[in-house]
Amino acid sequence: MPGQTKYLLDEGSMPTQWYNLLADLPVAPPPPLHPGTGGPIASDDLAPLFPRALVAQEMTGERHVDIPGPVLDVYRLWRPSPLFRARRLERALDTPAHIYYKYEGVSPVGSHKPNTAVPQAYYNAEEGVRRLTTETGAGQWGSALAFACATFGVDCEVWQVRASYDQKPYRRLMMETYGAAVHPSPSKVTEAGRAILAESPESTGSLGIAISEAVEQAAADDGTRYALGSVLNHVLLHQTVIGEEALRQFELAEETPDVLVGCTGGGSNFGGLAFPFLREKLAGRMSPVIRAVEPAACPTLTRGRYAYDFGDTAGLTPLLKMHTLGHDFVPDPIHAGGLRYHGMSPLISHLYEQGLIEAQAVAQQDCFAAGVRFARTEGIIPAPEPAHALAASIDEALRCRDSGEEKVILTALCGHAHLDLPAYGAYLSGAMQDNALSEEDLTRALADLPQVP
Ligand SMILES: *Cc1c(COP(=O)(O)O)cnc(C)c1O
Repeated sequence: MPGQTKYLLDEGSMPTQWYNLLADLPVAPPPPLHPGTGGPIASDDLAPLFPRALVAQEMTGERHVDIPGPVLDVYRLWRPSPLFRARRLERALDTPAHIYYKYEGVSPVGSHKPNTAVPQAYYNAEEGVRRLTTETGAGQWGSALAFACATFGVDCEVWQVRASYDQKPYRRLMMETYGAAVHPSPSKVTEAGRAILAESPESTGSLGIAISEAVEQAAADDGTRYALGSVLNHVLLHQTVIGEEALRQFELAEETPDVLVGCTGGGSNFGGLAFPFLREKLAGRMSPVIRAVEPAACPTLTRGRYAYDFGDTAGLTPLLKMHTLGHDFVPDPIHAGGLRYHGMSPLISHLYEQGLIEAQAVAQQDCFAAGVRFARTEGIIPAPEPAHALAASIDEALRCRDSGEEKVILTALCGHAHLDLPAYGAYLSGAMQDNALSEEDLTRALADLPQVP
C-alpha cells in the first residue's frame, strides 16, 4: 500500500523459537573462565546463580530453542511488536533513504527487557525458585523483571544504581507496584555494598557494584537465584524474537536493510535485532552493514580493551572475554543509564573482533538532538539509549541525502522515554554537557584488569 507506515504481524505469525547465533558462527567465541582455576567454567559453577534450563541455554550449540507455551502466552500481551517506516522523519531530513524502526516500547514496561525477563522468571518458577535478585541501571530491567516475577509468582528484589534511584523515583514506584523490593546500590544490605560505602559514602553506584550485591544475595540462599538483563548468551538468545519478527515484517515491506543500527549497553537489544539478520548475511541471502552505537562517556567497544574481566565490581562472576573499561570503572552518571556498563556481551565483542559488526561512539547532546528530532516528526519520544542509535541512523540518512543513495536503514527503537523526561529537560534547558571519557580516566580504569591464572 502506498504510504504504508506500520508493518504488523498477527499473533499467529509470532516466532515460536529463539535463534542461537552460536550455531552459525565461523569461529567460536572464547569461553568464560573460572576465576580460581583459570579453566573454562562448567554448568555446576553456574548452578548456584541460575536455574538449570538457563545454564543449558547459556551453553547450547543448538540453532533454535523452542519458546515455552506459558512464555508465548505472556509475550502475546504486546508481541508481535510493530515495525514502522519513518516517513515523516525521512521527509524532514530530505533524504532518499528509507528509515525503518522496530519498536519495543509497546511492552508493559516500555522496553525490550521483558522479552528475556519473562522466560527467566518462568524457568526459575518451574524449578521451584522462590526469589530472584537483580540489579538495575536505568530502571528498565528492574521493572521488566518485577513485572515478569509478578506474572509467575516469584519474589523479586532489585538493587538500583544510586544515581538512578535518586533521579528516577517513578521507576522505583513501578517496580514496587509490581511487588518488588528495591534497594539503592551501594546498599548496607550486602557485604559488597558495605565495602564500597566504607570507602566512598557518597558513591553514585554502578551496574558493576549493583551486580555484586545481587549475586552475593543469590549465592547465599538456596531458594534464591540471580537474573541478568543483558550481556549473557541466554539473554541475547531470548531477544532474537525482535529480529525474527523484523525479518517477516521486511518481507511484507518487500525490502531488505542495507544498514542495521542499534545501541549497545550490554548488547541485548542490538543482538536481538541483529542476530537473525546476521544469520541471513552469513548465509549469503542479504548483506547489511551492522553497526553498534555506544555513548562517548562509556565507549566499551570503540576504546575498551578486549580482555578477560569480571562482570561485576567485587569479582564474584566468572571471567568473561569482552571489550571492557575495567570492572571498577564508574562512568559519568549520563542520562542513558542503560548504557553505563563497563563491559560488553562476549558474543557481541567476538563479532566485533571478527569484523562482522562495526561500532561507533556518540556524544550525549547529539543523541538528545536526534531524540527531539524524532519526537517532533514520528511522535514517539525515544528513551535516551535508543536515541544513540537514532543519532547514528540520522547521520547515515544525511549521508544518503548528500550521495543520493536510497539505502534502507533499520534501527532498534528499544524503548520510550516516558520515565526519562528529566533527561530531555536537561537537554532542552541547555544544561547538558559533553562528557566523553578522557584519556587519563581510560588509562586509570584499564590498570586494574585481573590476571588470568
Ligand atoms: C537496558 C536497556 C538498554 C541497554 O541494554 P542492552 O542490553 O544493550 O540492550 C538499552 N535501551 C533500553 C531502552 C534499555 O532498557
